Amino acid sequence: MGAKAPAVQTLAGHSYNRRALALFDRALVRVLPAVPRPVVRRLAGRYIAGTELADACAVVRGLNERGKKATLDVLGEEVQRHEEAVAIRAEYERAMAAIDEEGLDANVSVKLTALGLKVDPALCGESVRALVRLAAGQGRFVRIDMEDSSTTTATLDLYRELRAEGHDNVGVVVQAMLRRTPEDVADLLPLQPNVRVCKGIYVEPSEVAYQGYETVRFNFVETMAALWDGGAKVAVATHDEWLVAEALRMIDERGLGFDRYEFQMLLGVREDLADELVREGHTLRVYVPYGKQWYEYSLRRLQENPKIAGYVAADTLRRLRP
Ligand SMILES: Cc1cc2nc3c(=O)[nH]c(=O)nc-3n(C[C@H](O)[C@H](O)[C@H](O)COP(=O)(O)OP(=O)(O)OC[C@H]3O[C@@H](n4cnc5c(N)ncnc54)[C@H](O)[C@@H]3O)c2cc1C
Repeated sequence: MGAKAPAVQTLAGHSYNRRALALFDRALVRVLPAVPRPVVRRLAGRYIAGTELADACAVVRGLNERGKKATLDVLGEEVQRHEEAVAIRAEYERAMAAIDEEGLDANVSVKLTALGLKVDPALCGESVRALVRLAAGQGRFVRIDMEDSSTTTATLDLYRELRAEGHDNVGVVVQAMLRRTPEDVADLLPLQPNVRVCKGIYVEPSEVAYQGYETVRFNFVETMAALWDGGAKVAVATHDEWLVAEALRMIDERGLGFDRYEFQMLLGVREDLADELVREGHTLRVYVPYGKQWYEYSLRRLQENPKIAGYVAADTLRRLRP
């Protein structure tokens, strides 16, 4: 895989294209609630394993057969009630038992707001602790996803608490778009952490996050470098071919072993790139969301970040083309 530079465009052309695309994406999102559920279900079907745990296990089994690892995500975030948070924790426990019984090569990713961060932070902390303990008993790992910037400090604090208590089978996420990320990385490094690096999916104000596409890419590269040079393990979570090539170059330059990195992608996205990484012998983990709340989840994600609607539309058209 050669290190391809980003497409060359004039700056004016670049920003004009991006503005036009952003308008198109927002228009798509506005019409979405009028689209019949079965149609949305078909569109979302590529990106979500299904409504039931058995659907998710079947998808993970298929991925494992193709040399890919997985991380399971139970859909449901920003729960409003205590009982919902308890139900999500119970579903994770069921999922982890199933993964273990079936001998699947998978771990889990959890969202703190789904486990009640905003309703009952103590319950949320206890639930994550319980899941991390359960995973440790199975020799598995729990990743705490990163949500919008209102949760960053609480998420990193809980991660540090867990590590201080001696739990090593837990990892966290940093977002290259956030201005605070270099400081967060510097604070995390003494823990020799396992960190997923992603661009960040939430739309954030410019005081909090860089808005420029190339600036976020630049920070992604800087973040990986700081983590690797500080001894951390990095999960490189991107479908951006240029960033994947940069990561490969940095891994090669530093002579890093498999214990220091893996690649991660979302279910149904850039499977060609994922396959190529697997063929080249790299570890590739696929993020597999499942759950009954697939419709609400899909709609909210698209409304929060209309760019994704554009990706899905482009991807669907590409697949429909003979
Ligand atoms: C395994 C994994 C875990 C993640 N965890 C988090 C997290 O904890 N917190 C967080 O804020 N964000 C998370 N993200 C999302 C991430 O922050 C980005 O929003 C997302 O990956 C898109 O950015 P990109 O790096 O792929 O680059 P982009 O430039 O946005 O995308 C590159 C190309 O990938 C394709 N693509 C990207 N996303 C999609 C999509 N959703 N549907 C269809 N095609 C797509 C498009 O072809 C696009 O041109 C995660 C992403 C991955 C892969």
